[in-house]
Amino acid sequence: MIISITGATGFIGRRLVQRLIADNHSVHVLTRSRSKAQLVFPVKAFPGITIAEEPEWHKSIQGSNAVVNLAGMPISTRWSSEVKKEIKQSRISTTSKVVDIINRSSDDVRPMVLVSATAIGYYGTSETQAFDEQSPSGNDYLSEVCREWEGRALGVNKNVKLVLIRIGVVLGKDGGALAKMIPLFMLFAGGPLGSGKQWFSWIHLDDLVNLISEALTNPSYRGVINGTAPNPVRLAEMCEHLGQVMGRPSWLPVPDFALKAVLGEGASIVLDGQRVLPVKAKELGFSFRYPFVKEALRAIVSEKPS
Ligand code: NDP
Repeated sequence: MIISITGATGFIGRRLVQRLIADNHSVHVLTRSRSKAQLVFPVKAFPGITIAEEPEWHKSIQGSNAVVNLAGMPISTRWSSEVKKEIKQSRISTTSKVVDIINRSSDDVRPMVLVSATAIGYYGTSETQAFDEQSPSGNDYLSEVCREWEGRALGVNKNVKLVLIRIGVVLGKDGGALAKMIPLFMLFAGGPLGSGKQWFSWIHLDDLVNLISEALTNPSYRGVINGTAPNPVRLAEMCEHLGQVMGRPSWLPVPDFALKAVLGEGASIVLDGQRVLPVKAKELGFSFRYPFVKEALRAIVSEKPS
């Protein structure tokens, strides 16, 4: 397949591109900055990739078989009102742009699949409730962002297969929340973050990349799919396992203020938490390589940096 990807230069996108190329797909990287993308994907290591900077995206999208939409400003930062606007706007405007190009394409060049990222923030937070794909949206800022983000993707031409992946906290070595949490965890000698009772709905980066790959190629994958592992854990349990696999004691709680210092208000994802289950992925027979957090963390901690 020929696949165009927004946000390809990010934490998830980089691993997805490697995986798609290994599977003999052709990749168009859609970026805001050609020079940044060229650094992330040097020609020698990625000879088959093409890079398109805005406003050239339409040439890449038209003629692709599928589009993966991952772009968005990072949420793990301090949320001033300006930043909150940009967090939402960056997702809405990129998704609108992609959908608009797809919808304006003639039948012979229109991609037939759109896989668009969204987040489990859609559901809001709860210490007691479990959420699946049928659960209603929450009523906080992140649920509002996710509703509008998904809303733009839902505007795509009805002949295009749309998959919305509500992504949980992605665990991987080279980015995401874990890369920020590990040094903090080392500093405070491990231990739960905040109260430790919050639910932590996570997914190993490789499982997420496999899920996106299935969503691209398997006709049964459509609509909303939660991108979370089947066994969410309480944060205290996650920290205990992280302490074990890192060979660190897990006895001091990492204070909320320290987490907020590195994750900004984006820390709310970790500090408030939600228990999200991948009911649809399981119905579809998706096989998780890392269903349990301890094995996922062990694999990540022992991974060499790429
Ligand atoms: P990253 O922050 O690592 O990368 C996102 C990419 O989006 C960047 O490489 C950049 O690409 C583009 N981007 C950054 N800022 C903006 C902006 N202001 N406007 C438009 N584009 C921008 O994200 P991840 O790879 O971690 O996540 C990918 C998507 O999945 C995001 O939308 C994120 O919200 C979602 N998600 C991620 C989770 C996680 O745990 N990582 C959890 C839940 C959802 P370029 O500079 O090349 O244009």
